[in-house]
Amino acid sequence: MQTVPKLVKVDIMSFERPDIIRPPSEWKSYYLPITSGCSNNTCTFCNYYGCKLQVRPVADAIKEIDALSMYVRQGVHVPDVPQVVYMLGRGWDGKRIFLQDGDALVYPLPDLVEVLEHVNEIFPQLERISTYATAQDILRRSQEELAELKQLKLDVFYIGVESGDEDVLRKIHKGVNYAEMVTACRKAKDAGIALSVSVILGLGGVEGSQRHALETAGILTDIDPEYAGALTLTFVPGTPLYREAEQGAFQSISPLQSLEELKIMIENASFTDCFFSSMHASNYFSVRGRLPQDKEQMLEQLRYILERKDPALLRPEFLRGL
Ligand code: SF4
Repeated sequence: MQTVPKLVKVDIMSFERPDIIRPPSEWKSYYLPITSGCSNNTCTFCNYYGCKLQVRPVADAIKEIDALSMYVRQGVHVPDVPQVVYMLGRGWDGKRIFLQDGDALVYPLPDLVEVLEHVNEIFPQLERISTYATAQDILRRSQEELAELKQLKLDVFYIGVESGDEDVLRKIHKGVNYAEMVTACRKAKDAGIALSVSVILGLGGVEGSQRHALETAGILTDIDPEYAGALTLTFVPGTPLYREAEQGAFQSISPLQSLEELKIMIENASFTDCFFSSMHASNYFSVRGRLPQDKEQMLEQLRYILERKDPALLRPEFLRGL
């Protein structure tokens, strides 16, 4: 049984709205913060490392939902509502909501249900709600609770799986091992919640590169998600991994080695039906396709780049992003 992390409840005035950090595929969503930060703030590579988790009062979240409704339906601005609500509401098509922040699924269940019920009541045409989630968040929910969330249209979880290599998971302080990650993901799938998982090229460093790639192919196979995305390790100042790299304790792989890892993952992972992509701005080269059917075509693109070894074919360093 997973223990519930210490939740910092704050009053309405002191809840700090987080910056918008969201998956690329959520570009059309309205971003509704119910937390700020991440409850598992220990991952040594992450920009949430060491952050303070804040939990937004339900009344405040509901006030924002009501203000959004007034704005999109009648063009009315409600006093004391941040301008970002109107900026986001202006281009919103009313179909998707993304719950912020780093693991909004940590929000206490009765409060989460209340917010979701209210969103559904006010926006009945809503098609889906999604959130980042940690394996720990999922493991501490019962199967019935996850099914209830699915009923309330919370039906996509974005999960940072990062690696299938036990050593890597331990070193980056992910807080769960291979088996726990797979169990959590399967539990969400059993509740009918779609999974979009991400893995990080380069997380094993030079020494552990091949093992990281092979073991990550293994965990992707065991999870069998609907969506999978590969990111490339980017060093974030202030994180332990950044310091390790600076001190030479962590040796970073080259851009071409990251594509070699990507090739190994695609070659060795088996999926039922997965949209796999490396479109994220951190990557040196983008491939995407539906697996298994597009496997050969994706591998062909990677082999071409790896054989040519031409840096001009890769995304330049200055255009890479988090
Ligand atoms: S990787 Fe995910 S779980 Fe880890 S600190 Fe970052 S947001 Fe939290």
